[in-house]
Amino acid sequence: VEEIDNVKPEYVRSFEFDSKLMPSTWIVVRLDGCHFHRFSEIHEFVKPNDERALKLMNSCTLAVFEEFPQDIVFAYGVSDEYSFILKRTTDLYQRRASKIISAIVSLFTSTYVMRWKDYFPHSELKYPPSFDGRAVCYPSTEILKDYLSWRQVDCHINNQYNTCFWNLVASGKSKREAQQSLKGAQLQKKIEELAIDYYKLPIMFQLGSSVFWDRVDNVLIHDENGKSSESYGKVTVEHIDIIGSAFWLEHPSILGE
Ligand code: ATP
Ligand code: ATP
Ligand code: MG
Ligand code: MG
Ligand code: MG
Ligand code: MG
Ligand code: MG
Repeated sequence: VEEIDNVKPEYVRSFEFDSKLMPSTWIVVRLDGCHFHRFSEIHEFVKPNDERALKLMNSCTLAVFEEFPQDIVFAYGVSDEYSFILKRTTDLYQRRASKIISAIVSLFTSTYVMRWKDYFPHSELKYPPSFDGRAVCYPSTEILKDYLSWRQVDCHINNQYNTCFWNLVASGKSKREAQQSLKGAQLQKKIEELAIDYYKLPIMFQLGSSVFWDRVDNVLIHDENGKSSESYGKVTVEHIDIIGSAFWLEHPSILGE
């Protein structure tokens, strides 16, 4: 104890390096389940899309919205991933990347564990799931929308592929054979060949989940003591096309300054 008495805290601190996210840019925090290929097998997820698992992911996202109501404006989720959009002006943790990512990812993960039994009442959580996270800054709203379009296109392509894959497996092919027959195949053609009624699939599987505040404008609430607080309304989860401009035109306040 005596020896460390003369270590100056500023000196030890000087090794800490805060990487701050660029000011005035949209921050996207994307989390993704670690080894969920295995996790989903061990927990017997329905393939290719387990609705319970997707709803559990959505529920964890609501918890994150409620924890950061001033900062998070939108989220998009599919499979074992979710992207959270923080508004350009946010000063959450002074925009320190590691603080923002770890706070969101750990809250999401602990909520996933706590709410597991609500969505999987008859199956035990066999080991603790984990999620990784990253933050990316997007300098313009146009690029942010391109980012979101990219995720939704990915959802569509993966879902087409997985739907064909599991259809082939269900028809008696081995996983290897199914994979072989889809190699380089045109998925749209395959879907027709296999007589899959793709557009009859639940819309959540086709379009993923978009989460945002259900509000026109922030409402300023005055309580009896004259204190005012902002109400952020309710969080809503919708399964909609966010690639075209229609959604953004209908909801100008989401990405509005
Ligand atoms: P990594 O740790 O690199 O992310 P991963 O195994 O999680 O590896 P991903 O590319 O993230 O790989 O893919 C997630 C996998 O989890 C999917 O391929 C799918 O098998 C499974 N999965 C996730 N959500 C669901 C779901 N709702 N229903 C069925 N399977 C799911
Ligand atoms: P922040 O979110 O900024 O970290 P904080 O409230 O977590 O805020 P810390 O500086 O991390 O503040 O301090 C953690 C606090 O948690 C301690 O001050 C103490 O009150 C409490 N705490 C943590 N662990 C224990 C423990 N084992 N026993 C009693 N109190 C604890
Ligand atoms: Mg990953
Ligand atoms: Mg994953
Ligand atoms: Mg993934
Ligand atoms: Mg502490
Ligand atoms: Mg603390």
